[in-house]
Amino acid sequence: MGLDGGTIASRSDVLRRQSQRVAQNDTSRSSRGGNAAGKVSDPGAVEASVARQTAWSTCALSSQPLQPPIVADGLGRLYNKEAVIQFILCAKDKVTDPEALLQYANQLRVAAGGLDHITSLRDVFDVHLTPEQSEGAKGGAAGAGAAAGSSSRTGAVAEGAGAGGGGSGWVCPVTLVPCERYPCSALRPCGHVLSDKAIKNLRGPGAGGGEAGGSKAAAAGDETCPVCGAAYTSMVAVNGAHEQVAALRAALKAAAGAKAAKREQAADGGSKKRRKGEVGEAA
Ligand SMILES: [Zn+2]
Repeated sequence: MGLDGGTIASRSDVLRRQSQRVAQNDTSRSSRGGNAAGKVSDPGAVEASVARQTAWSTCALSSQPLQPPIVADGLGRLYNKEAVIQFILCAKDKVTDPEALLQYANQLRVAAGGLDHITSLRDVFDVHLTPEQSEGAKGGAAGAGAAAGSSSRTGAVAEGAGAGGGGSGWVCPVTLVPCERYPCSALRPCGHVLSDKAIKNLRGPGAGGGEAGGSKAAAAGDETCPVCGAAYTSMVAVNGAHEQVAALRAALKAAAGAKAAKREQAADGGSKKRRKGEVGEAA
């Protein structure tokens, strides 16, 4: 452009491509039913928001809509449990259905090594997402969650309803903000997914402990889930930012390393004991 033979891009040349990208990626609708693409100025932001919405509404393995039972892996990605079971069975050569095997091969190809951390159901944990409730449905669901806790908001928590309406349809059970628009984390081991803001507020200002993200231990076990009341020991940022995923990946690697070392040590100790026993017998 310029200085290379007089080719100068005009304003319309630049805008045409931009607006097409924006229009293609923007799924939002104006209140009158038209496309709201005119309001969007940053195509990158649109892509990010679409990616977030996709991550929160579809299984990262099968690309099917997320439906309970839902699990998350150590990196905070969401899957339909059924898809993970199928994936593991295929990996263990226990499936003969050609269609399932083809699907498995495709999943491996698309992930390009990104699924290596899932080898058994122990590598994922059950999560409980809170579906958005329309005003009318709230009363009907009130009985469903009553057993879990004492907070009046708990009553609105009912699992099993599919994601509906705009967005992913999942909300934080405490602040009721949509999950795909605010950073959220899953508490382990109970699996309830809350917005980071809600978790921070519940901990109180004194607890501090830095920003959410990464899997880190909560202080001294006095942290309890506001939904079910169970104590949680760590939290995993669900569909977190790149840095959060990188931190989680590092933590996974470290945990795997520690496990391997422990196993080695145990094997070592066992053989030592055996040797000692033999020596004892001989003496
Ligand atoms: Zn819980």
